[in-house]
Amino acid sequence: MSSFDARRKKLRTLVRQAEADALLVTNFTNVTYLTGFTGDDSYLLATLDDEKLVTDPRYTTQLEEECPGLALEIRPPGVTMLKAVTKVVKRAKIERLGIEGSSATVSLQQSLAKALPNVKIVVTENLVERLRIVKDKDEVDATRVACQQARRAFDVVRASLTPSMTELDVAAELEYQARRFGAKSLSFPAIVAVGPRAALPHARPTSRRLSEGDFALIDWGVNSGLYMSDLTRIIVTGKISPKLRKIYGVVLKAQLAAIDAIRPGMTGEQVDRVARRIITRSGLGKLFGHGLGHGTGLEIHEAPRLAVGQKTKLRPGMIVTVEPGVYVPGWGGVRIEDDVLVTRTGSEVLSDVPKQLEDCALAS
Ligand code: ZN
Ligand code: ZN
Repeated sequence: MSSFDARRKKLRTLVRQAEADALLVTNFTNVTYLTGFTGDDSYLLATLDDEKLVTDPRYTTQLEEECPGLALEIRPPGVTMLKAVTKVVKRAKIERLGIEGSSATVSLQQSLAKALPNVKIVVTENLVERLRIVKDKDEVDATRVACQQARRAFDVVRASLTPSMTELDVAAELEYQARRFGAKSLSFPAIVAVGPRAALPHARPTSRRLSEGDFALIDWGVNSGLYMSDLTRIIVTGKISPKLRKIYGVVLKAQLAAIDAIRPGMTGEQVDRVARRIITRSGLGKLFGHGLGHGTGLEIHEAPRLAVGQKTKLRPGMIVTVEPGVYVPGWGGVRIEDDVLVTRTGSEVLSDVPKQLEDCALAS
C-alpha cells in the first residue's frame, strides 16, 4: 500500500466518526497530502470506499505523473466546479456530505446545499489536519532531505561570505545554492538581518552590508519537493562581544534543554516552558517574545505548536522546530532554530548545522 493509500484509509475512519458518507476535500494542501498531486483548483471527494479527484484538463499530464491510478472527474471547459462536484456526489449516492470547515467558504456551502437538496451537509473540523500532524516515513524522509539541502546551501554560502555582501546578496545566494542542491525552492524568503536588524524576528533583507554589524542572523529553510525545513543560525562577522557571548550562551542552553525535554506525552506548553524558564532565570525572559516552535511539513507553519497554552501532547512522528530567541532593541537578536523529530523514546534533531558560538565565526 502506498503512503497515499494508507493516509486515505485512515481518513475514512475519521469521516465515519464524523457521521458523514464522504469528505469533500477543498484545501489544496490536504488534497496534496492525500494524493501527491501538487496542482491546485482540484477537489478530492473521499467516500468510505474510494475517492475521486475533480479537476480540469490542464492537469491531466501532471496527474498521470504524480498520481497514476487515481480516479478522475475531468470537468470540461464551461462546466463549473460546483456542477462537477454535484454530479460526482449524486453518482456516489452520498447522503451526508462532509465539508472542511476551515477551508470551504460559506458560499460553497450554500451552493452545495442548493444543488444537492437531498444531501445533508456536515461541517467537519481538521480531519485531514489531524492526520498531517503525525508524519509517516515518507514525510520524515522528505524532511530529512530538506534539512540536508538547507545545510549544504548554508555551508557553501558561509564559506563564500565577504564583509561587503549585503543582506539581500546573502539571501539570494542561499536560494541559488539550495536550488543547486536539488531543492524546489526555499521554504520562505530567507531572513538575513545584520546587527540591530536582527532584533526584528521577521526582518526582511535590505542592502545593509555584513560589515555594518558584528553578527548577522540568518533564518532559512528549504522545500525539498513537498516538505520543508526551517533553521536559524547566527554568523559572527566581527568580534564576539561579552554581550553576544552571554546572550548566545543562554539561548543555546535553552534550546538544548528544550530539545532534550521533547518526548512523547509532553505538551507543547511544557516544552516551551523548559526553554522559557532558562531564559527568564537569566533575566532575559521579557526579550523572548514568541512561542518556542511550530510543526513543519507541507506547510512551513503547521500543528503542533510549542507555546504557552498548547495542550496537544507530542507523539512519535511529529516534527517541530525549536527556536528560542532573545531580541534586544537597538542591539540585535539571537535565535537558534532546529528541526526535531519526536521519536518513541525522545527526539532526533534532523538539522545538523553546527551551533557552538565558535562554529558561527566566519571562515578566515
Ligand atoms: Zn525559521
Ligand atoms: Zn520557524
